[in-house]
Amino acid sequence: MKSFALLLVSVALIGAAPAPAPVPAEPYAQLKQIVAPVSGAEMKKTVAKLVSFGTRHTLSSQTDPKRGIGAALNWTEGQFKSFGLPTVRPCDTVTGRRIPTPTRVCDMVAIQRGTERPNDVVIIQGHIDSRVTDVMNFTSDAPGANDDGSGTAAVIEAARVLSKHKFPATIVYAALSGEEQGLYGGKILADYAKAQGWNVVTVLNNDIIGNSCGADGVCDDTHVRVLSEGPRSQGEVDLMAATHSLGGENDAPSRNISRFLDGLADHLDIGLDVRQIWRTDRFGRGGDHIPFLELGYPAARLSVAVENYNWQHQDLRTEKGVVYGDTIDHMDFNYLEKVAKLNIAALAAIASAPLPPEPKVEGAVSTDTTITWDAVWGAQSFRVLWRRTDANQWDHFRAATWADCTKARHGSDDPKEPLMNGWTIPHCKVVLPHVRVDDWVFGVSAVGGGFESPVASAVPGGAFKPYVAPEKKP
Ligand SMILES: [Zn+2]
Repeated sequence: MKSFALLLVSVALIGAAPAPAPVPAEPYAQLKQIVAPVSGAEMKKTVAKLVSFGTRHTLSSQTDPKRGIGAALNWTEGQFKSFGLPTVRPCDTVTGRRIPTPTRVCDMVAIQRGTERPNDVVIIQGHIDSRVTDVMNFTSDAPGANDDGSGTAAVIEAARVLSKHKFPATIVYAALSGEEQGLYGGKILADYAKAQGWNVVTVLNNDIIGNSCGADGVCDDTHVRVLSEGPRSQGEVDLMAATHSLGGENDAPSRNISRFLDGLADHLDIGLDVRQIWRTDRFGRGGDHIPFLELGYPAARLSVAVENYNWQHQDLRTEKGVVYGDTIDHMDFNYLEKVAKLNIAALAAIASAPLPPEPKVEGAVSTDTTITWDAVWGAQSFRVLWRRTDANQWDHFRAATWADCTKARHGSDDPKEPLMNGWTIPHCKVVLPHVRVDDWVFGVSAVGGGFESPVASAVPGGAFKPYVAPEKKP
């Protein structure tokens, strides 16, 4: 009941607020403290070690103790274990266009089990495999310093820093293989998540996050691109008619992860802004977040503001005075530190916050709009947010408390207690007078322990859970 009393302090407000609307200031102070030890110098050591394996091509040796993908995966396992984290090595034997003979492809994954809701999972991942110009060449040196030693270093740095803390939800740290051969490692981990029954709230896929200048001399070390899908790819066909009628092409959960990261970056004061890129990946290209999207798990890719195409997927060489190759001297570790800090703050925040609810909206031919949702475990309050259909960020909000919800049959308002064991889950409802449903997009977030979840939009396919088509009546 004590926490319920606290809720009453957050007086329900209706009206406009600057984006992103403020939840208590303390979470940002706490997040700044958590990310303070994140170190570009540490990540430089990690990248140097990864480069020292010569090549990390997926088809390179799995048994050589010094050179190849096997040695790199084993070393990563040792790093995770040195932080006290249990590890798993999900594998699959695959054959494909870029894997001519059946080959064992393995990921190295550390799991930091949540203290209260271990089945709710946030994932940070990068790919540990590397390549040169010919994607089938598994013998030449392929340092892969930035692609994707940078992402792998951020994963290991996240594990180093966050393993010193405890979180209600589970954090998974993953070094994936097989990306360059066809996103195999991402698929292996996405399938593993599904087999474990994980409730994947967010996947942060980090791929090429450690350089700040392009080949044309354009530099930018103050932005990171966050790429997110538009209409959710999983269930898209089933959702098409509803999306056509009710909208939602800009409100898949991955898009709200993008908005969440954008808002978070504004509060961290690390000299880094998010550039939201509203497409699944770079033009015509792909990454390891896509296999997660295909299973309905929210996922986004983080990548540098300015890519340098001479320094990725290239044989090491100098041609007409131009240097090619993905080497460590091309990297910017101050920049990598900032991108890692944003990732790590996001992991800590989302693993601390309750799950996003699944809101519904009504109000056609009415002067009011009604938003309803079921309460979620760990929530102490909620926020209803809305924005114009052509606005990119949530900029209006109203706080909601348990006073806006039905009582759980249990009769207790202690938000720490699990809602799921035989309880009637409280049903919450907020009416916004004089707000026309036609002109806005609506969403709801949950606040618990001072941390706010990402917003789930009240649109077809907006829920953070995989879309399940309603059963058709025979
Ligand atoms: Zn890559």
